[in-house]
Amino acid sequence: MLTPLVSVVIPIYNEEALIDTLVARCVAALATISPSFEIICVDDGSRDQTLPRLLAARIQEPRLKVLSLSRNFGHQAAYTAGLHAAQGEFVAMMDGDLQDPPELLPRMWNLLRDDAHDVAYGQRTDRAEDWGRQVLIKSFHGIFRNFSKLKEADNVGNFSMLNRRALTAFLSLQEKNRYLPGLRSFIGYRQVSVPYSRDARPDGTLPKMSYKRLFALALDALFSFSDLPIKVCLYSGLFGMMVFMAAGIYVLISKAAGVALLGWSSLGLSLYFLGSIQLLFLGIIGEYVFRIYRENQNRPLYFVQHYYHD
Ligand code: UDP
Ligand code: MG
Repeated sequence: MLTPLVSVVIPIYNEEALIDTLVARCVAALATISPSFEIICVDDGSRDQTLPRLLAARIQEPRLKVLSLSRNFGHQAAYTAGLHAAQGEFVAMMDGDLQDPPELLPRMWNLLRDDAHDVAYGQRTDRAEDWGRQVLIKSFHGIFRNFSKLKEADNVGNFSMLNRRALTAFLSLQEKNRYLPGLRSFIGYRQVSVPYSRDARPDGTLPKMSYKRLFALALDALFSFSDLPIKVCLYSGLFGMMVFMAAGIYVLISKAAGVALLGWSSLGLSLYFLGSIQLLFLGIIGEYVFRIYRENQNRPLYFVQHYYHD
């Protein structure tokens, strides 16, 4: 089989209602680049009609390939699975819920062609999401921008296209706690941003990343690409020491001056405060230990049930 020029990797979890539109819009967008492309839909253990619909769409469009995973591994793992399967000279990552418009793919490709850049990544200028999600996502990006020291970290997601050189580097990063936009920025090379406005999900479909999963992803990002958690411990420890040194001096001076000192309740409170802060910090250190443990277990990120191609 000839190597396709462009591959698009799309993780999909329970999106049965969107499959036909998704495939049609992708095919139309990619056809403007070249007839030589492949669309790799990674079925991340969907429980609805996603897989049968994808396979039905494949009958009409053999350039659509379906990588079905053995269970739901989460969308960062699903992307990684699809990227391993991708054969294209240029490989794109795109969410399957049409929040990332496929029509942007030709623009990304134009920035990469003739070896002009290695990575083109979508940067969201605004997003259509419910306000609760927006507030959380914006706060995360604010913190991440300040603490990660990654250049291409502001308001970016997975939507992007990489050439082979960048993809090889990207796939050589084998850590298990994966925050893909961070890893993609980490590899360097010549990166260029493509501003876009993130569409709303099509009517009637719900996000498949629950708040819990979004929070876990934000933690992955912060633990992997910043020293914020450990710095919080360090600086509050230092702050606590200073407060208690000041309190010590106050006690000494008060005693010397014969002033009545604060009573037992303040002692009880400070003990309680110190106790809880130590538990919190043990939790943060425990999280680091757990992450080291998980890396050491070295379990594969995903298992493939079947790859429908050719
Ligand atoms: N997704 C996936 N596995 C999951 C959760 C989500 O493959 O366990 C897919 C989902 O179908 C969608 C993409 O990942 O194509 C992004 O998910 P979602 O829209 O829920 O995330 P958000 O846009 O809120 O970040
Ligand atoms: Mg989405």
